[in-house]
Amino acid sequence: QKEQLFALKGKPDVTRDGKMVAVCANIGGPADLPAVLENDACGIGLFRSEFLYLNRETYPAEEEQFAAYREVLQAMAPKKVVVRTCDLGADKTAAYMHLAAEPNPALGRRAVRLCLTNRTLFQTQLRALLRASVFGNLAVMFPLITSVRELRACREVLQECRTELEQQGIRTGQVEVGIMVETPAAVLCAEELAQECDFFSIGTNDLLQYTCALDRQNPNLEPFFDPHHPAVLREIQMTVEAGHRHGCRVSICGELGADLSLTQTFLRMGVDAFSVNPECVLAVRGAARGCDACQRTQ
Ligand code: PEP
Ligand code: MG
Repeated sequence: QKEQLFALKGKPDVTRDGKMVAVCANIGGPADLPAVLENDACGIGLFRSEFLYLNRETYPAEEEQFAAYREVLQAMAPKKVVVRTCDLGADKTAAYMHLAAEPNPALGRRAVRLCLTNRTLFQTQLRALLRASVFGNLAVMFPLITSVRELRACREVLQECRTELEQQGIRTGQVEVGIMVETPAAVLCAEELAQECDFFSIGTNDLLQYTCALDRQNPNLEPFFDPHHPAVLREIQMTVEAGHRHGCRVSICGELGADLSLTQTFLRMGVDAFSVNPECVLAVRGAARGCDACQRTQ
């Protein structure tokens, strides 16, 4: 089994009927790079940057973040690395952040909500990312976006950081900008959001939680979890269609992306890329190579 999978190393991520898809890896930091390279991922589709902030005593400084992003970009170059800005909140935090406890952390001041109300936190990370961007192929992704207004606000801070760096004589590279589609609001506004970013990455873990009103942290709810819930599958279809109408590539980076029983369905929907745990990359590649992206006409 393992040998069969390793035989897929070096093979292209292409469906039986010739559509190129990208099977990328999810990581939490540079320590995951060996697994990514070992499994021959097509790039990093989700770098969960919040892990750089956890299990420590102070905020990671710009310099430290810069070093981590540069290391990942250089190791992967010329392949793409999608870094998600820190998805922190009352349930993903460390004592030094002094975040107030919240009754509903999943619905609280988290992800871009935290970044947009703590400019220093956001600017430090964006400066580090922009500085690192010259060392590889970087894309920046904003988590938990629910509206065009939030996306614009995030883009504005990114632009401010770029201008400031340029004024300081520091070079920055081209950076694609995308969003996580992980709330029903983002799905319903996908048409408008697609016009203002380069790519979508569907976070099926949170999309399921927010669509079905099921706390993903609560083990007692397990009997009610249906990862194949038709509402979520329909949301994925809607997101792909809206994205494609405006030239946005659409990827799946939640757990569902590694569900091989859905690979054919996703490809038929038009999904362009997957980002999965490094250990799942070759299995998804194998599945995609056995699938058709287009509906057979006869
Ligand atoms: C998701 O929500 O599906 C996702 C990929 O992000 P995370 O699991 O880190 O919330
Ligand atoms: Mg999420």
